[in-house]
Amino acid sequence: MRFDIPALTSQPAPTGASGFSGLTSVLADVLAPRVCLGCRVEGSWLCTPCVGGVERDPNVACVGCGRPSRFGVTCGLCRSAFPIQSVVALVNYRDPVVQQLIQTVKYASAHDAADAFATLVRDGFDRTAVAELRAEVGPSPLLVPVPLHRRRLAERGFNQSQCIATAVAATGWGTIVPDGAFARRKCTLPQATSGPVQRFTNVEDVFTCSEPAAVAGRPLVLVDDVVTTGATLAACARELRRVGAGPVWGFALARG
Ligand SMILES: [Zn+2]
Ligand SMILES: [Zn+2]
Repeated sequence: MRFDIPALTSQPAPTGASGFSGLTSVLADVLAPRVCLGCRVEGSWLCTPCVGGVERDPNVACVGCGRPSRFGVTCGLCRSAFPIQSVVALVNYRDPVVQQLIQTVKYASAHDAADAFATLVRDGFDRTAVAELRAEVGPSPLLVPVPLHRRRLAERGFNQSQCIATAVAATGWGTIVPDGAFARRKCTLPQATSGPVQRFTNVEDVFTCSEPAAVAGRPLVLVDDVVTTGATLAACARELRRVGAGPVWGFALARG
């Protein structure tokens, strides 16, 4: 780690979901200005030069077996375990700035998270793998953020994946699935605390689509903050395909 976690104590205290309001944001800036996690310059969580310095995801590979593939296409051997066309991530989770950003905004506000993620999404949207993904998917996919269980959502105040999907939609690509149409019905342990095999059993039968009509036949892009084993994306894709969704792709902010 280039930096230690004390940033958490020097960053703004949680301001709750109401952080979306401009006034709350201005107050948060005055009370505790945001500091770039890369260089400590005040004003944002990630300043423009530091966005340029973030390590991009070099791992353009099948999410199942890790064999290199164009824009993360899932290979034929892995397709039954991972019913997902391809998975593309913007940046590398091993970059300490990326790790800090994702960990820090978890304890900040929805407004802060959306701001920080939007900067990374805008910067990476025309890069090769993402551009290829967009060309393959087409101009108007349904964006499906990986849902949090309602209990965890209440604790945290916002869903990071929803913030990333909002940043993606703000670029003019795709629309977000209606609230509640796709949900997590079990409150599982965070994937980061589980081993690779347990990650797959953790998410079995966890997701449910209550509005099949909203997803039927449409190309979908699942949106997540960090993809590691792909277990969560695979479980989401399986449920969405089961209720009649069209082809499912994956888009993550970072690959671990
Ligand atoms: Zn910076
Ligand atoms: Zn594979």
